[in-house]
Amino acid sequence: MIPLRIAESTMRYDRMLLAMMLGWVLMQPGALATAQRCECHLDQSHVELVRERMRLGVYDSGSITRPTEFMVVQVKWHVLTDTSGNASIDATTLDDYLVRLSQAFAPAGIEFCADPEIDFISDNTLFANVQNTYELRTLNSTEDAIDVYWCPSVQGGGLCGSSSYTFSPVQGVVMQTSCQGAKDVSGVLIHEIGHYFDLFHTHELNWGFDCPNGTLCSEVGDLVCDTAPSRNMLFETCVDPTDCSLRTDESSCIEGYPEPLCDGSPFLESETRNFMSYSPVHCLLEFTPGQYDRMNATYWNLRPELQAGECSQVDRCPADLTEDGLVNGGDIAVILTQWGTEDDQADLDGSGTVNGADLAVMLNSWGLCW
Ligand SMILES: [Zn+2]
Repeated sequence: MIPLRIAESTMRYDRMLLAMMLGWVLMQPGALATAQRCECHLDQSHVELVRERMRLGVYDSGSITRPTEFMVVQVKWHVLTDTSGNASIDATTLDDYLVRLSQAFAPAGIEFCADPEIDFISDNTLFANVQNTYELRTLNSTEDAIDVYWCPSVQGGGLCGSSSYTFSPVQGVVMQTSCQGAKDVSGVLIHEIGHYFDLFHTHELNWGFDCPNGTLCSEVGDLVCDTAPSRNMLFETCVDPTDCSLRTDESSCIEGYPEPLCDGSPFLESETRNFMSYSPVHCLLEFTPGQYDRMNATYWNLRPELQAGECSQVDRCPADLTEDGLVNGGDIAVILTQWGTEDDQADLDGSGTVNGADLAVMLNSWGLCW
């Protein structure tokens, strides 16, 4: 039998050790809120680099050099299969996800096309489980498309997705075909592609705490000013899965968290429907205008390789003859100038002659090119 005094001191020591361990865990940026759902590593040099880019205005929408051009980004699907021919995902689902991806990014002026040739990677070991997502991304990777690898299981089934920022040494996206029980993972795909355009989690802590009503919104949190701070939010319990709203009973959110560093509750404003949050997968539904600006600036200023992709070479707005991003009176003037000729560009319907039918094609695509 252990003498009482020793037992008490052992218990006190255990409690102290537990408190120290808990304290350490809570000090880690986004520790509990970010456990294992998305692998999107930021080290200290990245944090400094992004801070410098923010200072230089690289991510400002005003710094975009060619705002009226189309951005059509090519993705390359890589699909794991086993040697019996079972594929991790089917082509119909990929087509559906591609449409959802384009819809989500449309306000940023970005749409997506897929290389029609899917890269099937036959490997029983990887099909069973992908442990190292960085090694996977070196397989058959491309130069000017976003490589997306589809896997039945990543890190034992616990990791929904993995992505890269513009500054990451290994590029590409790894997707698990299900996420926390959800079979439709289009929201996770959009989330990971958001990282690819240098969006950070709305609960990001690497740059410091973002407080509600804080004035440092471009220097802390996710560095985007119109996303509500969601620091240290326990999304699993804070978000009501039935309507994706924030639970008003904050005790279910705050348990186990350190005292709020801001005045008042840290949960007064939180992102529960933002693609870059950790809300339930079916609640990933929105980007903010500030996030669209960030993605747009990232495309033009930091992703030149995507501008060289095959899709981006397709003329998405053939009626914009003056190439000013608009189909308007200036383009009609070109049609009238070429009226009756065989001018290739103005002959929009390919009939061999510039005539009224070409004018009709032009009027059908009147306005902004996207
Ligand atoms: Zn993420």
